[in-house]
Amino acid sequence: MKVLIEVSGSCNVCGLCVEYCPTRVFRVVGTRLSVNQGECIYCKGCEVICPVKAISVRALNDDLLILKRKTLISVK
Ligand code: SF4
Ligand code: SF4
Repeated sequence: MKVLIEVSGSCNVCGLCVEYCPTRVFRVVGTRLSVNQGECIYCKGCEVICPVKAISVRALNDDLLILKRKTLISVK
């Protein structure tokens, strides 16, 4: 499954998705949330667990996946 994970500016880096994700897609790096798209198994649980609904996980075609892979989201 090829996916695109997007995190909106409403993310407050609470860390819940970091704890929840079974494949360690998310990491907190300083004041930022780092997203490693390649490890996602498309369970979509992070969309539910995020208290501010900041996460969107969508299926993608290969071309778009290459463009969006390894996204680093700044929340400050
Ligand atoms: S995406 Fe949601 S659950 Fe993850 S750190 Fe940001 S606010 Fe918390
Ligand atoms: S959909 Fe599942 S595997 Fe993918 S980032 Fe969210 S919690 Fe992790």
